[in-house]
Amino acid sequence: MTVGLYAGSFDPPTLGHLDIIQRSAAQLDKLIVGIGINPNKKAFLPNEERAALLVSDCKEQGITNVVVTPFTGATVDFAKEMNVSVLIRGLRGEGDIPLERGMAEVNRTNGFDTLFLLARSTHSHLSSQLVREVVAAGLSTDELVSARVAASLMHHGAIRQRPPTAKISR
Ligand code: ADP
Repeated sequence: MTVGLYAGSFDPPTLGHLDIIQRSAAQLDKLIVGIGINPNKKAFLPNEERAALLVSDCKEQGITNVVVTPFTGATVDFAKEMNVSVLIRGLRGEGDIPLERGMAEVNRTNGFDTLFLLARSTHSHLSSQLVREVVAAGLSTDELVSARVAASLMHHGAIRQRPPTAKISR
């Protein structure tokens, strides 16, 4: 059984991530989407929400061989724990290569090879960072994320932008 691990922050999940999930799951018996939790970094969307959004979006896309699991620590340790065969990463363009090359090399020396899928040209500009900036600017994320993720972002964006409640003095 070939099991892939697609690890990342997915904060938030974008259409680019979803495309890599769909295309890699089609090549594998099972795909684990590992949501890497960094306890020292404040997440934009809560971990459980990122996981729930990815589960629902995969279900909607009819991807049935995917499990979504948050994890802490090194990707290779999680991969060992989950009996993973191969790591999956997406490449948006040349800009991703230096970092991905380093990570792939380290992971390979720790027992795990990486398969890379090239982003669709329509997704090659897409990143979670871009989505966070678009939300902060109050612009539409419709072309960047799924409808479900857009609704969640709107909810969280609205919470962030709400002015502090004025105290009524009597
Ligand atoms: P990180 O691992 O830096 O937290 P992400 O969670 O954003 O990064 O991404 C996880 C993986 O998905 C990485 O391999 C990244 O290159 C890839 N990826 C991110 N955005 C896209 C996209 N638009 N198209 C294809 N792959 C992408």
